[in-house]
Amino acid sequence: MHELGIMISVVETVEKFAKENGITEIETLVIQIGEISSVVPHFAQACYPAAIDGTMMENTELKIEIIPANCRCNNCSKIFGYVGSRGICPHCEAEDWELLGGEEFNIKEIVAC
Ligand SMILES: [Zn+2]
Repeated sequence: MHELGIMISVVETVEKFAKENGITEIETLVIQIGEISSVVPHFAQACYPAAIDGTMMENTELKIEIIPANCRCNNCSKIFGYVGSRGICPHCEAEDWELLGGEEFNIKEIVAC
């Protein structure tokens, strides 16, 4: 489980940003995690209280948005979900496709009080 380290560095990044921009309190932190990112949303959420402990973000709520991993088939141009597809287009069974997203890990938004 590497999520604690990741969440600590997220908190550090946000704190630095807040200091630079004169923000003293943050209400909500919104992060985006791709469906096939190496970060497990459930673990990120579980590590969050430990990551914010003793920081200026102690009372900040974490919101996680999941970005679906979608593929576009190069044969029939249809879009399908990567998870459960086993790498085969469910429409035409081609194995030639492009991943459109799903590996993201972004700090999307900081909601100040
Ligand atoms: Zn196809």
